[in-house]
Amino acid sequence: MPIATVNPATGETLKTYEAMGDEEIERRLQLAEATFRTYRASNFVDRARLLIQAANLLDEDRQDIARTMTTEMGKPIRQAHAEAAKCAKAMRWYAEHAEELLADEEPAEADVRDSGASRVRVRYRPLGPVLAVMPWNFPLWQVIRFAAPALMAGNVGLLKHASNVPQTALYLEDLFHRAGYTEGCFQTLLIGSGAVGGILLDERVRAATLTGSEPAGREVASTAGQMIKKTVLELGGSDPYVVMPSADLNRAAQIAVTARVQNNGQSCIAAKRFIVHTDVYDAFAERFVEGMKALKVGDPQLADTDVGPLASERGRTDLEELVDDATRSGAHVLCGGKRPDWPGWYYPPTVLSGITREMRIHREEAFGPVATLYRAGDLDEAVLIANDSPFGLSSNVWTRDEAEVDRFVRDLEAGSVYFNGMTASHPAFPFGGVKRSGYGRELSGHGIREFCNITTVWHG
Ligand code: NAP
Repeated sequence: MPIATVNPATGETLKTYEAMGDEEIERRLQLAEATFRTYRASNFVDRARLLIQAANLLDEDRQDIARTMTTEMGKPIRQAHAEAAKCAKAMRWYAEHAEELLADEEPAEADVRDSGASRVRVRYRPLGPVLAVMPWNFPLWQVIRFAAPALMAGNVGLLKHASNVPQTALYLEDLFHRAGYTEGCFQTLLIGSGAVGGILLDERVRAATLTGSEPAGREVASTAGQMIKKTVLELGGSDPYVVMPSADLNRAAQIAVTARVQNNGQSCIAAKRFIVHTDVYDAFAERFVEGMKALKVGDPQLADTDVGPLASERGRTDLEELVDDATRSGAHVLCGGKRPDWPGWYYPPTVLSGITREMRIHREEAFGPVATLYRAGDLDEAVLIANDSPFGLSSNVWTRDEAEVDRFVRDLEAGSVYFNGMTASHPAFPFGGVKRSGYGRELSGHGIREFCNITTVWHG
């Protein structure tokens, strides 16, 4: 895949980049290692000052970087603004909370005495240079979600961003430098995915995090495994959105539309499978389809656009193949289902019903604005359908019945359960999945501790 900015709204190649060669990669690895030796000794106050400065600069740059993201991957401009704002918020959150999240822990007095010690502490020390392999769909957020806690913990970052967002990748390196970070604290490696393996095998790189597809996760984790290196994997999702009879149907249908088409439908935590109790199925389906049909599809740079193009031609073809496979096997198209005949990689908001287990779309992730509708006879069947997926990232349930809430919390196989709302990450809450959605957590105290050496300090 060439490293290039290709506008998905037109298909036009705007800028291409030469991948960094071995010499430049080596220079950057050396720099990362050398910088870590000094940066790890910095204190939380200095680290927080730098991160807040980066957040302030990001706020100032918001218009420009939002336009760049939209140009590179097609998200509606309003959502690009919101993404930049969310990044600044997460940076400030970690600047404020990291010291407390990584404070020394003191085991119980009785256990300290039992070990024969006079004192025991658990200290969270940084690991070293961490490689972050990141996707294009939230080109700022995915990186900041890694970088803010990693830098506050005293690690340094090496970013291998997706090949179709090079300008955003270079912006990130520049942002941290302008904020005052030493050059080696955060570096962008302009490289293709073929160069990742060699970097993972390098002793100087201590750990890796990957947000992306299952095949990429499998490859990165197995290479890192050869070197016994810690990895965090944030992979795909096919989140269920369950609607029970006690739900506020109008609101459930309205939020369902946003939950499905956010980021042009290319979000790991977008609701993708809509599982509706039979008593409210028809009423929900009617409102949901109406909402999907009413969306404005078009130029993502315009403020009133709801759905822009998919990020790549390949992405659109993959999505079309999933829809065609389902319709060939008997799925009904309630709206959309046919690409428009204008330039760019657009695909309309689409709703399919009559989904069966044999259809690919039942098990695979639909990475675009395509929703599948399921009818469930009761709560047990809703849980069964929800869990009948290789993925387990997040989940959404609409109910006002407390007994049902307990059942869903107990039984849904996912890293989070959002009731009467849609999944949205927040810096203070852990984020991540189970099953083939990956392992490890980002954000919150759990996220910042993933790349720490949890050290027992024992005094006789
Ligand atoms: P992708 O193809 O896996 O790419 C993600 C990153 O991995 C890119 O930087 C890519 O580089 C790199 N990569 C690809 N194959 C690789 C390999 N064999 N070895 C090393 N690196 C490799 O994923 P995508 O299609 O861009 O992103 C969409 C996927 O990400 C979806 O499945 C989505 O659900 C998932 N995602 C998950 C989360 C989460 O938090 N769980 C968040 C967002 C997205 P190149 O661009 O150079 O190929």
